[in-house]
Amino acid sequence: MNRAPVTLQRRSGALRPPALQTLPVAVTGNVAKVRARTPSTIMAVVKADGYGHGAATVAKAAVAAGAGWLGTTSVAEASALRAAGLAVPILTWLHPSGIDAEAAAAARADVAVGSVDELGALLARTAPTVRVHLHVDTGMSRGGCPRGEWDELIGLAQRGQRARRVRVVGVMGHLALADRADPAANAPAVAGMREAQQAVRAAGLGSPLAHLAATSGALTDPATHFCMVRVGAGLVGIDPSGTVEMHGASRLTAPIVHTTAAPAGTPVGYAGTYVTERATHLSVLPVGYADGIPRELSPRAGVEIRGRRFPVAGRVSMDQIVIDTGAASFPAGTSATVFGPDGGATPTIGDWARWAGTIPHTIVTGIGSRVKRSTA
Ligand SMILES: *Cc1c(COP(=O)(O)O)cnc(C)c1O
Repeated sequence: MNRAPVTLQRRSGALRPPALQTLPVAVTGNVAKVRARTPSTIMAVVKADGYGHGAATVAKAAVAAGAGWLGTTSVAEASALRAAGLAVPILTWLHPSGIDAEAAAAARADVAVGSVDELGALLARTAPTVRVHLHVDTGMSRGGCPRGEWDELIGLAQRGQRARRVRVVGVMGHLALADRADPAANAPAVAGMREAQQAVRAAGLGSPLAHLAATSGALTDPATHFCMVRVGAGLVGIDPSGTVEMHGASRLTAPIVHTTAAPAGTPVGYAGTYVTERATHLSVLPVGYADGIPRELSPRAGVEIRGRRFPVAGRVSMDQIVIDTGAASFPAGTSATVFGPDGGATPTIGDWARWAGTIPHTIVTGIGSRVKRSTA
């Protein structure tokens, strides 16, 4: 009787650590799906590190597939894309640390200005000429110049352009409705965009690029397309409108680090909220809520192991989850797929979103930094 304890057994070989793999070929396919629905220029929005998939990786795949622009929410993100070799026009908005005109010029990044104050601050500088997109509120009340101040914004832009401080190259709106196809609900925003476009033209600022739609509008409502559509979620396989099957662009895997046999009636995890109904096997995966596994999950939540779906047993811990594999006993080192585009027993990010009562965006952007990243 000289059997090694389980703990020694699991440490004897190197495991493949938890890994998030980005699939650029899926991004390519998703750009094609958008292209099939609009002739407008496609801006690939790669904020939040490309929705957790790696901004440069997603950007390169999208541009290679025909996206003509990139979108980010800070000049720093734009600079990183330039450093990664991306040469297409980049628009940044939001600007959490204010607009640094010098940095924007250095990154050859266009900036969206969403208020009279923001544009005023830009004009007060003696910086190089900045390419701006006038960001108008088209009904969302989340950023963008309120309708009552459009004239003031456009007047200021006119003076700024004469003084060569700015060049107005775009007019931007945003649709409040991102999660269902409803052209009637979009109509007021479309009318608002047209109005803003005309006011900019009337002010002698030419015919800047107008853009309003994000993924949902791009896939479902041609009236919202204008010159350009800004697609983020769609690139990584999320169709918020639920009308088009997109390609999932990432796969999260984790190794089993520990397997035990458990008799019927065994409580599992914190507070013993899950009790085994029969003799079974329990496998531990080294991913938890610190890695982005949602803590609040329906009992349906599960992972794929060797082509079969097995449920998550008990509470999600900070660093680990337990899987109930029933009669099957998998040795340490066996890879489990938490989510991926593979079909069959493999959950999708949409499945995880349903189990957690959220949207797939929060699943993909929430994967923690200690999960190793790679590209297929
Ligand atoms: C994030 C964002 C987008 C992209 O939206 P998706 O629904 O992810 O395609 C477009 N425009 C703006 C202003 C955004 O902030």
